[in-house]
Amino acid sequence: MKDIKIAQIIVDNKCKETDRVYSYLIPDDMNLSIGHRVIVPFGRSNKKVEGYVVGITDSIDFEINKLKSIISLTSNEVFLSPNMLKLIAWIREKYLCYYIEAIHGALPANIRIKNTYRYELNNSNKGIDLLKEGYPEILTEIVEFIVENGDSATKEELRDNFNDNLLENALKKLIKLGILRKRQIIKKQESIKYDKFVYPNNTHNMIISAAAKKQKLLMDLVCKNPGINIEVLKKDYSIGQETINTMLKKGYIKVEEREAYRLTQEELPLEEKKVLTVEQQRAVKEIKNYFDEGNHVLLNGVTGSGKTEIYLQLIETELEKGKQGIVLVPEISLTPQMIRRFISRFGNTVAVLHSGLSSGEKYDEWRRIAEGKAKVAIGARSAIFAPFNNLGIIIIDEEHESTYKSETRPKYDAREVAMKRSEIEGANLLFGSATPSIESYYKAVNNLNRMKLVSIDSRVNNKKMPDIEIIDMREELKSGNKSIFSNRLTEEINNALNSGNQLILFLNRRGYSTFVSCRSCGYVAKCPNCNISLTYHAKGDYLSCHYCGYSKANPKVCPSCKSKYIKYFGIGTQRVEKEFEGAFGKIKILRMDADTTTKKNSHKLILDKFRNKEAQVLIGTQMIGKGHDFPDVTLVGIITSDTYLNLPDFRAGERTFQMVTQSAGRAGRGDKPGVVIIQSYSPHHYSLIHARKHDYVGFFKDEIRLRKEMNYPPFSHLGQIVISGYKEDKVIRAAREVGDLINSLRSDKKDIEIWGPSPAPLSRINNRHRWQLVLKADKENKLLELIKDFYSSNTLNLSEIGISVDINPLSML
Ligand code: ADP
Ligand code: ZN
Ligand code: ZN
Repeated sequence: MKDIKIAQIIVDNKCKETDRVYSYLIPDDMNLSIGHRVIVPFGRSNKKVEGYVVGITDSIDFEINKLKSIISLTSNEVFLSPNMLKLIAWIREKYLCYYIEAIHGALPANIRIKNTYRYELNNSNKGIDLLKEGYPEILTEIVEFIVENGDSATKEELRDNFNDNLLENALKKLIKLGILRKRQIIKKQESIKYDKFVYPNNTHNMIISAAAKKQKLLMDLVCKNPGINIEVLKKDYSIGQETINTMLKKGYIKVEEREAYRLTQEELPLEEKKVLTVEQQRAVKEIKNYFDEGNHVLLNGVTGSGKTEIYLQLIETELEKGKQGIVLVPEISLTPQMIRRFISRFGNTVAVLHSGLSSGEKYDEWRRIAEGKAKVAIGARSAIFAPFNNLGIIIIDEEHESTYKSETRPKYDAREVAMKRSEIEGANLLFGSATPSIESYYKAVNNLNRMKLVSIDSRVNNKKMPDIEIIDMREELKSGNKSIFSNRLTEEINNALNSGNQLILFLNRRGYSTFVSCRSCGYVAKCPNCNISLTYHAKGDYLSCHYCGYSKANPKVCPSCKSKYIKYFGIGTQRVEKEFEGAFGKIKILRMDADTTTKKNSHKLILDKFRNKEAQVLIGTQMIGKGHDFPDVTLVGIITSDTYLNLPDFRAGERTFQMVTQSAGRAGRGDKPGVVIIQSYSPHHYSLIHARKHDYVGFFKDEIRLRKEMNYPPFSHLGQIVISGYKEDKVIRAAREVGDLINSLRSDKKDIEIWGPSPAPLSRINNRHRWQLVLKADKENKLLELIKDFYSSNTLNLSEIGISVDINPLSML
């Protein structure tokens, strides 16, 4: 009897019902292994879809003749290792997404197979004739377009030329009339690039006429440089393909193809490792000891304490053992400077993964890792999936950054994925930060999840920490200064400008300044239940808590001091720019905000310009990452620290502490000392007081006490359900229905709190209205169960409504 082999496959069809493993017959001549990608027929129409092989077996408990066969293997690449498949299964459970979403999340986006359709004419003359019978004009136009296009056109080509709304129906009609037929095509998006190299072949009897100058030049070059790149011949010597073809035909040359990688890193002189300072040595020793005992480590080192050098040396240790390493940094820190530090240490064994790469480059970097040519991957969040096969260490720098949490499905947290991956692969795990997240620090000091703490309290060579001053803006108002710049800040701005140094001014991020405060006494309206700032709603002029739904009228006078200076708080970057020019004259200013950073690289371009001293002043709403060294910045001013302090988020204090400490880390990087000026209406807030003293531990103690009191993470787990849509009334109705369903499902799980539904603080994004429900439980599993119950029993008819779920979101805006 013939051996029957069956593949277990996850298909690319995103929906609840098909989120499972399917069985397919493996054709006899197909050499299939786990992790391969295949094309399979799917559903009643046998649509071709891509699928990933997650298992191979020879036994099934149902009728074999019901099985469909795999159509083809897309390539011989193994996309997913058994370890990666374990990780994917875990991600699906943990973040409540589909298998295929977890798979796509772990692979470079561009390697996905693109599904499209080609529309072909059954008979061109007949088509035009038929259409003379008074059908809508667009039908004729489409047929004419397709005729001109060579009797067929892809969906994309048609979309480029016709209105989307009309196209779909017109095509259906044309198919019904028998004029067009539709054929599914599947396209690989990224393919391996080959470089061609030219070698001399049979040259002893070579005859080239004197007139054929290009042929002669070609042969000279090839004989002198056997293996010369064909592109060099074409570009640098203007030798055409025809000349090459002629010489090939005569047999004088031969061409060899070799795989090429698109991203060629600049070659840098290799840098010797630094001799570690005493403090660094101690830290490395502690870290290695913890690793040896099977622990993870949180490295809490102040800005400039030499953490990056420690990362480099820990990676080196792993490389010496023949293992590989992953370093995650926030996207914004992936600057040429930061990347150079790694390349000059590890040469071309470094692969870089970030959003600035073209899709081809990303694919090639991914492949260099998969093929074992790269040993160190440095990248943003998704680099946690770098396809190494013998991973020695994962390092997450600036581990407190919220960019490690994905905001699209799968909504994973790279730090949690890193923990799981290090467990599956037996790799070491290091988190590093000057301002660790409260959750991680709490784990480290309590040795939860095998996390241990290592601290460094001083900068390399005892370089001084910058001075941080807190300015009480209530006093400024009292003394008659109504400008947005306090007297101290004005003084320091003048100092910096006059001495030719650079300065950075930060203010609130747009869309966050939604609270109401008193400029006279600093009073901020807060929710009595949740201890977070109430959110101001201009429409209706009221305040509400978006955790629990509490609301009240917007006060006209300050409840605390009776002042009438109580109002919606918010200053935009443009206003700061204008007032700056008013106060300090016309000076070249760079602005970095939502308006100036719409393009992909604009962020980086602005910072590069600032680095190159094309402007003395940078005004920004966005935090600038590590890896940006501005040696001439001597002043960082935070115009409105209150917008961080009053974020409608229980992490407001944490965010404020991080923001102040990290901006202080930007000042005084060079030889010149730096000063940081923070303007605030609540200057005695604990997060400012501790930040001023560079005292993380002090801050942590105050913050963790509050978290415990209010039962916020790490003492509980939160889930957020956002209900959104274009029509407000529909969204509100849907939010209530979802709320009712969740409440009824909870009935036997009384230990889960349900807040809302209430409007989300960002109550409208891209014209979509947003409402939310917040769930709180002591155990994460309870949350996951409730939400799974919700998914499986959700029979609500919610057309035009989107529901998105986030487990332990990092912000609930
Ligand atoms: P962190 O990552 O903690 O902010 P860095 O690794 O960027 O700190 O180090 C801060 C500065 O100190 C850098 O300019 C770095 O080159 C330098 N540095 C780090 N370690 C050493 C060392 N052992 N000897 C001399 N200079 C060092
Ligand atoms: Zn007041
Ligand atoms: Zn509340």
